Amino acid sequence: MSTEPIKIEDFYPLDTFNRMKALADTKETPFVVIDLNTISEHYDTLIEYFPYSKIYYAVKANPAPEIITLLKEKGSNFDVASIYELDKLLSLGVPAERCSYGNTIKKSKDIRYFYEKGVRMFATDSEADLRNIARAAPGSRVYARILTEGSHTADWPLSRKFGCHTDMAIDLMILSRELGLDPYGISFHVGSQQRDIGVWDAAIAKVKVIFERLKEEDGITLKMINLGGGFPANYITRANTLPTYAEEITRFIQEDFGDDFPEIILEPGRSLISNAGILVSEVVLISRKSHTSLHRWIFTDVGKFSGLIETMDESIKYPIYVEKQGEPEEVIIAGPTCDSADIMYEQYKPHLPLNLASGDRLYWFSTGAYTTSYSAIEFNGFPPLKSYFV
Ligand SMILES: *Cc1c(COP(=O)(O)O)cnc(C)c1O
Repeated sequence: MSTEPIKIEDFYPLDTFNRMKALADTKETPFVVIDLNTISEHYDTLIEYFPYSKIYYAVKANPAPEIITLLKEKGSNFDVASIYELDKLLSLGVPAERCSYGNTIKKSKDIRYFYEKGVRMFATDSEADLRNIARAAPGSRVYARILTEGSHTADWPLSRKFGCHTDMAIDLMILSRELGLDPYGISFHVGSQQRDIGVWDAAIAKVKVIFERLKEEDGITLKMINLGGGFPANYITRANTLPTYAEEITRFIQEDFGDDFPEIILEPGRSLISNAGILVSEVVLISRKSHTSLHRWIFTDVGKFSGLIETMDESIKYPIYVEKQGEPEEVIIAGPTCDSADIMYEQYKPHLPLNLASGDRLYWFSTGAYTTSYSAIEFNGFPPLKSYFV
């Protein structure tokens, strides 16, 4: 690990950072400050580099009304996982036609609820779920989610639990037609913060096989590929830029489908939102466990239970910026609760200055996504992580 301090400019334009910090300076820690303008820019970049795609924002990444409203106004669609997310979207004026029910694990009565509200697009990866959809949401579009490789190169894998084998996806599409549904397409998610772009190549090749088999043997013409999320945000472990992802993925689609692209859906969460946020915390206490121990423990007022769950197994390595400059020292960083799982980094030791003291602020970069929505409601009495918007 480099002992160089984190550079602001590697993560935010200076004027953006200064705007966020000016607001942060007026608030009590801990909280996330989000720059809506950055989200807007990321959305535009996505459209620019994937001009042929339809965006379905993965609401779970950050369901703040400010973000949903912004994306609604920019024309985004929404990937929805529960009736609660759906209610929120509808209450903010998002039309039901712009929502898909992307969770493959759902109650029959919740499918019905989506259908009654006007949603007509459903993901599935099992026969039981498909039969529920046919009963509760007759005639709807369904797409089958397939399993993909790539869990070892994704910093936050979404494998095993979701998706089915290619053969089963084919059978589900055939069955969906028999059940009076509209067999619409195939989806996958290669894992969140996927650093190996090549895994999209393998996944798209699988989709191609499914498209062809269904067309030739069953006369079913699928219309859509949902490429999921997995696009990169900036953390300590670097990934390629979005334009590089777009260029490569576009080439993969062209290789398999020629210039006649099916409808392409993207479901970004992390890549749209993460780098628009900074989580600001304060050092509560600094200690050593013995007179001779080499590492200091930095306890801060935010932890695994208040927004930083993606530090689990040290999966996501957030850059931590501090204002003080001083001799860098490897530290262990932990949260404020009475649970020993509440340690963020013990193996990967960030370098923070030796003169760091209680009351100093830590700026956790790239924390706009998967922080506030993961925060516990009152573990140890700590309130959920707040957010503010500039
Ligand atoms: C979480 C999720 C996403 C978003 O993934 P990111 O890697 O955050 O972009 C997209 N689609 C589905 C189905 C998801 O569950």
